[in-house]
Amino acid sequence: MKIAISSILLLFCIVIGAQTDPKIYDIIAAVSEERLKNDVQTLADFGTRHTLSDTISNTRGIGAARRWIKSEFEAISKECNNCLEVFYQSNLVEKGTNQRIVKDVNVVNVVAIQRGTTYPNRYIIMSGDIDSRVSDPNDYTSDAPGANDNATGMAGAIEAARVLSQYKFESSIVYLGLSGEEQGLFGGQGFSKYAKDQNWQIIGVLNNDMIGNIAGVDGVIDNRTFRIFSEPVTTDETDPIKLIQQAKARRFYGGEVDGISRQLARYVYTTTKTYMPEMNPMMVYRLDRFGRGGHHRPFNDLGFASIRIMEAHENYTQQHQDIRTENGIAYGDTFEHVNFPYCKKLTAVNTITMASLASAPPAPDQVGIGGIVEASAKLQWNTVEGAKGYKIYWRDTTSPTWNHSRYVKDVTEITLEGIVIDNFFFGVAAVAENGYESLITFPNKILR
Ligand SMILES: [Zn+2]
Repeated sequence: MKIAISSILLLFCIVIGAQTDPKIYDIIAAVSEERLKNDVQTLADFGTRHTLSDTISNTRGIGAARRWIKSEFEAISKECNNCLEVFYQSNLVEKGTNQRIVKDVNVVNVVAIQRGTTYPNRYIIMSGDIDSRVSDPNDYTSDAPGANDNATGMAGAIEAARVLSQYKFESSIVYLGLSGEEQGLFGGQGFSKYAKDQNWQIIGVLNNDMIGNIAGVDGVIDNRTFRIFSEPVTTDETDPIKLIQQAKARRFYGGEVDGISRQLARYVYTTTKTYMPEMNPMMVYRLDRFGRGGHHRPFNDLGFASIRIMEAHENYTQQHQDIRTENGIAYGDTFEHVNFPYCKKLTAVNTITMASLASAPPAPDQVGIGGIVEASAKLQWNTVEGAKGYKIYWRDTTSPTWNHSRYVKDVTEITLEGIVIDNFFFGVAAVAENGYESLITFPNKILR
């Protein structure tokens, strides 16, 4: 009887094409709340990690903090036969660059690369921030523990390295600590330029900024919901003519809500729904919070897919605040406000997304679409080496997520009979032998 049930289940799985990998559940379980707690405590205990703070002391300031982060990555690397390449990447930012740079400062990022076995030059990146601040952005001596903002994101990246370094992946994974965020996103600017100069093929950047608060300033307490911010389309500032052409094309062919960062956001959403169904991922269709910024933006500026992952309910009395008590409210971004079970879950969201993307083939880079004044839509794409098949996705134009799909093998074109091109948006992903899928490519060519 037992056998019969399991074979029915197996058949069911094959029929609906649902593929989940037991390894991903192990990767969720391996994320340690205890280690996240220790690391956030250690980072908060550096007193301040302000970008302009002391760099000489071994106990206080951003210098001590970055040396500790580097030494943690090196310790993790030792445990996996030196599987991580650990180094500093830095840029000098001169006094007066903006009002928050009151002296020359070397903005130093800490980088750990877990090299991919098949696609060493393709990278999926998880970033957190090293730096912190208090009420006055230029006060670089007062205590700024920055426990939630953003020791949580930094600790998450370190913990992700501990977990994922136990496995091998086809594409490279980067665990990244960025500095200079609060002074004007300088670390992200420096690092994204470095990656571009090195010709990195970036699959995407998961920027984690504040992943530990569950009690909102509005009184809502919620340990299941988190936000995924993504800009609508790429606004690569380096090529204004291309931008105008793309905007014109979108008027006629669509794509206003289908930029590369949006596809990355949808991937995080779907992966979470598949493997962590208790969570409630919330896609927010904007670059970041209203008028605010984060370290994913400099990557967007250079044309890379990059999103922000963060808590759903913020508490502004605990962000960028001098530590004090006023009218009975304890202001300041201190350790005791961080919720570690939640921080663990959001770290796991990152690890499963990176494990999946780093196990998948590249997305098709050419996807053509046709079917104007016809009853059926046609799609055509380039062969992706390493792909076993392809998944054609489509959705209602008002749907935030890809709701329909069809898996195909041994072909690079398809006609979707009876599916009228006008009424849906379409995309194509490459699928590996192991079932892992690439990001979805929105059509970038019209078939006549
Ligand atoms: Zn901040």
